[in-house]
Amino acid sequence: MIKIECDMKKIRSIHSIYVEEFLFPKYFSLYKTQSEQIKDYLNNLLGNKDEVILEHLKGLCVDTDLEQIICKEKYIRGKIFGKTMKDKQSYKDLKKIWDMILDYEGFNRGISKGAKYSVSWNRHLFVEMTNIKVCPYCNRNYITSYVEDDKDNRIHTTASIDHYYPKAIYPILQLNVFNMIPSCTVCNSYTKGIKDLKHLNPYFDKGSISFKMKLNSVESLYSSNCNICIVAGNDKKSRVSVEVFKLNKIYETHNSILNEIKEKVMDYENFKENYYEKLLGEIDIGIDNIYKNWFDFLFKEEKDEPLVKLKKDIYNQIIG
Ligand SMILES: [Zn+2]
Repeated sequence: MIKIECDMKKIRSIHSIYVEEFLFPKYFSLYKTQSEQIKDYLNNLLGNKDEVILEHLKGLCVDTDLEQIICKEKYIRGKIFGKTMKDKQSYKDLKKIWDMILDYEGFNRGISKGAKYSVSWNRHLFVEMTNIKVCPYCNRNYITSYVEDDKDNRIHTTASIDHYYPKAIYPILQLNVFNMIPSCTVCNSYTKGIKDLKHLNPYFDKGSISFKMKLNSVESLYSSNCNICIVAGNDKKSRVSVEVFKLNKIYETHNSILNEIKEKVMDYENFKENYYEKLLGEIDIGIDNIYKNWFDFLFKEEKDEPLVKLKKDIYNQIIG
């Protein structure tokens, strides 16, 4: 798991402007067309004075306490709809309303700075600002941002957005910045899907997941048939992450890296033994520089390149 370290203050500020300039004006026309019961629900949740509604709408999109948002909505839903909300259709109708108010699909398209809006903002710009180049869940796949060859030179990203609290179940959190996790398509669509499980949230949790070479005996350190084993710490979220993203399964495909690292370590030990002998009057470029090139992955950040955490952990296991 890679922790996302980014300028969240700036992201929240731009996101708040987006809510104010794009979502807030649309809210009132939508509100007018709702039944009295829905209006009551919205009034209870968001208030009925303009400035209060705006602050609450912003809160749904930038507040850090996601559990609190969920609890408040659930309480008000129960209070207003009571038993009538027990059927699935009514909840579907409410979900549709949140889809219109918060409009995650609209965030995909975004807005452009100009006469109407004071910022440019959309999903792609958001992902770029999270400053992460590798999927934080699996650490295997790149997340790439690139400039589109069109007249606006728009920025695009190859990342999917995983909703930590799935938007199908918690539509009220569909546009909250702490609920939108840039990730690879494999983690978002194939392994996680719409499961509602409390795995690590890369904005808040680092967790304790590490990689080990499975050793049955001392000899197996020298065997070419070693397997990667993912070890989760004692915290529940780390264990759930390993389960949800099927890390033990998907890392099977990287077993060959174990041999690569083992060979690198052995080759370096042999090289180092003869280093000063071989030098014989040639310019000494420094053993430290050679070490840095030899084990370049030790000097890279996990958020910048796939599989760096795996390589570092295995190296440390071999070196002991
Ligand atoms: Zn991934």
